[in-house]
Amino acid sequence: MIVHTVGMTHSFATHAVHAGRDDLAELGVHAPPIDLSTTYPAVDSHTEADRISRFAAGQQPPGSPLYSRLHNPTVGRFESALATLENAEAAVGFASGMAALTACLLAAVAAGKPHVVAVRPLYGGSDHLLNCGLLGTRISWAEPGRVGEAIEADTGLVLVETPANPTLTEVDLAALAAECGEVPLLVDNTIATPVTQRPLDHGASIVLHSATKFLGGHGDVMGGVVACDEAFAARLRQIRIATGGVLDPFGAYLLHRGLATLPVRVAAQSRTAAELADRLAEDPRVAVVHYPGRAPRRPVQMESGGALLSFEVVGDATRVVSAVQLITPAVSLGSVDSLIQHPASLTHRIVDEADRQSCGVNTAMLRLSVGLEGVDDLWADLDQALKAA
Ligand SMILES: *Cc1c(COP(=O)(O)O)cnc(C)c1O
Repeated sequence: MIVHTVGMTHSFATHAVHAGRDDLAELGVHAPPIDLSTTYPAVDSHTEADRISRFAAGQQPPGSPLYSRLHNPTVGRFESALATLENAEAAVGFASGMAALTACLLAAVAAGKPHVVAVRPLYGGSDHLLNCGLLGTRISWAEPGRVGEAIEADTGLVLVETPANPTLTEVDLAALAAECGEVPLLVDNTIATPVTQRPLDHGASIVLHSATKFLGGHGDVMGGVVACDEAFAARLRQIRIATGGVLDPFGAYLLHRGLATLPVRVAAQSRTAAELADRLAEDPRVAVVHYPGRAPRRPVQMESGGALLSFEVVGDATRVVSAVQLITPAVSLGSVDSLIQHPASLTHRIVDEADRQSCGVNTAMLRLSVGLEGVDDLWADLDQALKAA
């Protein structure tokens, strides 16, 4: 399914099941324990004083976590597993995808490089956070190919999402990384997942996930995670300790558990999504289908099309959302069950209408996150719902 890269000793599927579990045999357990302690015994104050300083500097000293805002072993196992799957030195978990993005932006601001160059479209919340400059960042929007010229002396980050949400446009990461030069390229890999694309292998330096989506995979846990080199991870841990956007241990347990089935879920969901994209494209009630790799588009770096597709309806798209019976009308994506939503009304509501239009998010568009249901059942539901448009 995935091309094995340097650094991976086993196949991706094997790592998905076993990564982050190295200490379990020694602990004499089979499932990762959920450590709910908020504090830990600190008997020798002198030793612990030194360890506190090291935590505050973003390091991970061995021994007691001291306090769970500094470190949590259950979170640490999930981070280590995700780092393996993204072929990264390290990963840092957060309370949500937005908390993860916030930490990356604060790292740029703290380094005295508050200018961010970003490619539209992005997830609506990310677009809003960048556009409103709430965290002290300054934004320039640029198209791929024009990113290099948008970079200034104080540019701390280039940010892109590929495939983009909700248009599923793919960006050539190797070409974009070349444009970035020394400026770190952050790729939001939420939609592709490391199953279909690993941005660090294509020249990116930071990978961000809303773990709430495919990594958890069951619509019951919120989290975020950043995979990167150890130096940037240390900066992120410093920020996480100072600002408190920690991933909770039970959430980390569920996310780690989700990784084990990520390759089979994404493969099955991608197969169904590709089939639905074909059927929708042949339907006269549908004007356009957007799906990565679908002709006339060619796959850029994704190894399969993924589980997300969008399509433009002839007639009133919002009526299709109201008419589905099996598919859930809801925001979010990446769950075992299928979800449909109207981006112009919901996920991208917060983006200015002109900006929304300019990056192709129109009112005819619906976004479908394909789950693990039978393809014929999903098609039957779409078919009856399209009659309402
Ligand atoms: C959902 C999402 C986010 C935000 O993540 P939360 O976990 O909801 O905070 C960021 N990027 C993408 C692509 C998303 O789909």
